[in-house]
Amino acid sequence: MAAREIEISILRLDKIHPLISGNKWFKLRYYLEQAIHQRKKKIITFGGAWSNHIIATAAACQLYNIPCTGIIRGEQPAILSDILQKARELGMQLIFISRNDYAAGHIPPEFTSDDNIIIPAGGFGELGKKGAATILDHCSDKNSYTHICCAVGTGTMLAGLTASANISQKIIGISVLKNNLQLEEDLKLLTGNASNNFTLLHDYHFGGYAKSTTHLFEFMNDWYRQTQIPLDFVYTGKLSYAVTDLARKNYFPPGSRILIVHSGGLTGNTSLKKGTLIF
Ligand SMILES: *Cc1c(COP(=O)(O)O)cnc(C)c1O
Repeated sequence: MAAREIEISILRLDKIHPLISGNKWFKLRYYLEQAIHQRKKKIITFGGAWSNHIIATAAACQLYNIPCTGIIRGEQPAILSDILQKARELGMQLIFISRNDYAAGHIPPEFTSDDNIIIPAGGFGELGKKGAATILDHCSDKNSYTHICCAVGTGTMLAGLTASANISQKIIGISVLKNNLQLEEDLKLLTGNASNNFTLLHDYHFGGYAKSTTHLFEFMNDWYRQTQIPLDFVYTGKLSYAVTDLARKNYFPPGSRILIVHSGGLTGNTSLKKGTLIF
């Protein structure tokens, strides 16, 4: 975007692995390390029917040969989602619990043994943050960016980026949930108040988590035509839309060098009707 003299780069974490994609690998890495180190018998984790975290954990556990169980939100459907089917094929045991129990964090007691390691949904927590803090190591010159922009679900990736960025860099998180006021509190816990060089924007959720509009799909298709870079509609589509919109509104001062973290998640697009996206 030469007119405004800003430069936008994209860190393609979507290219790491087709299933252990994007930020999920980073958020999982120290949990996996701990499981191996402490000789845990099993990894237990949580997610919904289209969870990127579930499929990533299933694939990572298969790779490292660690038995795993996914505790899935909601009753078992007659037909499993593509993601759950794939997770099961990769060897993950699937346990379905009611939405109420899931929301209350009730874990069936047979899974809470000390022999198991429990990874919070989305890889949330200190170990997840520690892993996400290694994301920027994959930039050739991470200090050259003035702004680092990422999508935000649980905020774990944002906390990791904030911890590893330098103090002059601005971290901008695009929340993909509607009115997630809990997020600020969660982030205070994760970042320890000390480092608050991040800004959360709540206006780019397109109706809420995993919600979408034709406008978003048109944007994603246009983006693909221009860049050949595929986006997912839950996270990186909304993120890239937001950055484009902010740039158009002159949010970034001239001379800004902006990094968009493409955090993967392309498997989520399989939930869309065929033909919605051109890639
Ligand atoms: C899970 C996920 C996120 C959200 O990461 P958090 O650390 O939970 O904020 C962002 N982008 C993609 C593609 C994801 O799969």
